[in-house]
Amino acid sequence: MRLGVMGGTFDPIHHGHLVAASEVQTRFGLDEVVFVPTGQPWQKSDKEVSPAEHRYLMTVIATASNPRFTVSRVDIDRPGPTYTIDTLRDLRQERPDAELFFITGADALAQILSWKDADELFELAHFVGVTRPGYELSESGLPADRVTLQEVPAMAISSTDCRARVERSEPVWYLVPDGVVQYINKYRLYAGDPRPAGTAR
Ligand code: ATP
Ligand code: MG
Repeated sequence: MRLGVMGGTFDPIHHGHLVAASEVQTRFGLDEVVFVPTGQPWQKSDKEVSPAEHRYLMTVIATASNPRFTVSRVDIDRPGPTYTIDTLRDLRQERPDAELFFITGADALAQILSWKDADELFELAHFVGVTRPGYELSESGLPADRVTLQEVPAMAISSTDCRARVERSEPVWYLVPDGVVQYINKYRLYAGDPRPAGTAR
């Protein structure tokens, strides 16, 4: 059993995340990719992050149609800030026979040496850094034997940009799945000012 692990804040989940997971799933022959929305992410604790249940449900909506994609609550049900080491330990306990492939942006990977228990991270999982085309591992200072890079075509999409667009009443159609657009509108996520029900965004 080869299990991909896609951790993220997913505030909101977008097509960059989904394309990255799909590309890595194909290239590494993964049986399943489990998306793991963070609890309160320690790197982002100073910023406003949407409630975990909203981020979890958007992730479920976005992944529901792919038979190889699943969603885990391990991080949002664990109290306290989310550390990747705890995510991997919990998944390892749930799936003792799975070989784990942790999928993350190469920029986030480059900070990995500052993460809690970085050495054990590399023992628990193989790391796949997703990059925009043309990025070189040599730029990153990462151990080439423990990390593989995967180019992803939709790298320019970010949750930050999606939130800013919603706040400015600009469209996020085609950047996030249709069901996520509708979910954002339904619960008025990211809206700068409340607008009347039924107003198109
Ligand atoms: P934010 O802008 O709020 O930081 P984000 O778009 O980076 O959000 P996260 O939930 O922080 O989304 O990202 C989860 C994981 O997905 C991270 O490892 C991140 O590097 C990766 N990722 C983010 N955007 C993309 C993208 N467009 N293509 C591939 N991977 C991405
Ligand atoms: Mg990010």
